[in-house]
Amino acid sequence: MKIEKVDVLPCHMPQSDPKWRFSIHANRISKGWLVEITADDGTVGYGYASATRHMGANSEGLKGTLDDFARLLVGRDPFDIEDILATLDHHLKGMNQAKAAIDCALYEIVSRSLRIPLYKMIGGKRRTELPVMRVLSLKKPAEMAMMGRKLVDAGYKHIKIKVDGRWALDAARVKAIREEVGSDIRLIIDANQAYKPKDAILLATKVVDYGVEIFEQPCKSDDYAGLKLVTQNSPIPTEADESAGSVHEVMQLVTNRIVDMVSLKVPKLGGLRNTIAAARICEAGDIPCRLGAHVGPRLLTAQAMHVAASLPNLSFACEFGEFVRLQNDITEGVENVDGFVRVTTEPGSGARLRADAQIQIEEAEKTEAAG
Ligand SMILES: [Mg+2]
Repeated sequence: MKIEKVDVLPCHMPQSDPKWRFSIHANRISKGWLVEITADDGTVGYGYASATRHMGANSEGLKGTLDDFARLLVGRDPFDIEDILATLDHHLKGMNQAKAAIDCALYEIVSRSLRIPLYKMIGGKRRTELPVMRVLSLKKPAEMAMMGRKLVDAGYKHIKIKVDGRWALDAARVKAIREEVGSDIRLIIDANQAYKPKDAILLATKVVDYGVEIFEQPCKSDDYAGLKLVTQNSPIPTEADESAGSVHEVMQLVTNRIVDMVSLKVPKLGGLRNTIAAARICEAGDIPCRLGAHVGPRLLTAQAMHVAASLPNLSFACEFGEFVRLQNDITEGVENVDGFVRVTTEPGSGARLRADAQIQIEEAEKTEAAG
């Protein structure tokens, strides 16, 4: 089998809530690209490249990199996943989000071609359904409590509360949400690096009695000493997200016990293969891990879900529902039902292009061309 053609398609998705924001950005549109790899027997695989600016990938840079990578893929055997990824790593350091799209598309082609679900390529599944944690945008405490109520009414039992570094306001957010959703709902907080270490410890002591179970990325991503200080002094387990931006960084975090937990994401780590490698490092260090927010089309969640289904050391809940808050998804094949996603047994990830995708892609291409 040979790769015949690689196309890079726009996949920009507006937020349903135009005021959705976290402590670093308020992205009105969640930008990214869909890589479409076609093999000479007609098998097609898709992967999503996520333009996550705070992880070093913008939309324009990704497009250029993907076009560059496309030239290296044509003529290669898509079953040679390791060799192809080694070629990309040799060609360009970093740009994990672009590499992730290609890695995912290759896994998709191979599993579709073998007519097996993707999880069978990576060790088989250990679970068929996964509880979904949904994320609450930064807003005033009462508004966040109301949004939390809607999530609970929709069946979700895990909620992540975005916080922004103002400890008194953040504590008020947690209090309002806990009082609204009741004691059965599991809560975590995510500061996206907004805190100085000692203020993070102060917030943790203020909200621990509200049953907050994880404090995600309290401090700057490269402030390992600060993170470790929080880990050693916070009554709430500390989790790395932005700090865990590569397999190498995950190894540093685990071996030096900088955090108590790690949030893994397919785009930032560079694909399914690297996400599994990072999970194995966590397993070896007895550090729990889970899959964090996969913000983008349903395709991205579907592919990440197969990894989550296969991991032995998965902890807490994965953020596999953020596609719900994005519009104009050109893919389908996974949905949240009563707070869970379920792994399909179709060939590949089970995600596919929607019947009307071509119309949306052409519209988006016109918008791109118009600048
Ligand atoms: Mg995070």
